Amino acid sequence: MLEFQTNSVKNIIMPKQLRETLVPPLDKIMSIVVNTNSRSTNIVDFADSMLWVSPRVKHLVCRSGFSAFVLQLTHKELLPGIPDDLCRFCTSHPSRCWRHSVMTYTLNHSCDETKKKVQSYIRANLRKAGRNDVD
Ligand SMILES: [Zn+2]
Repeated sequence: MLEFQTNSVKNIIMPKQLRETLVPPLDKIMSIVVNTNSRSTNIVDFADSMLWVSPRVKHLVCRSGFSAFVLQLTHKELLPGIPDDLCRFCTSHPSRCWRHSVMTYTLNHSCDETKKKVQSYIRANLRKAGRNDVD
């Protein structure tokens, strides 16, 4: 498990340009918890970054004094039948991104609006990788 304490979640967001050349650093981390005192956290950017950093994470939490976000995922390695070239997110390095292994997910946020945004982010991303079987 990895736990962060930060003034702003922006501090731990991975720039997209960097992701193209780097390999996800925390392949074996199962749980990431972030505690922040920031009021304005972009949860979609946060989830996007953390799922890149740790593609097999099962438990992703972002807590502040004002809100709480929890994303739980189950994965299955090497799902058959997903052609690699369908996924434009992991063409540059050998490990497969989270979009290939997620089987189920549940998410919770104290704000319904944010919850919906994260949900549509996850759905859209899975569809982009040819996954229409997850909900
Ligand atoms: Zn991928």
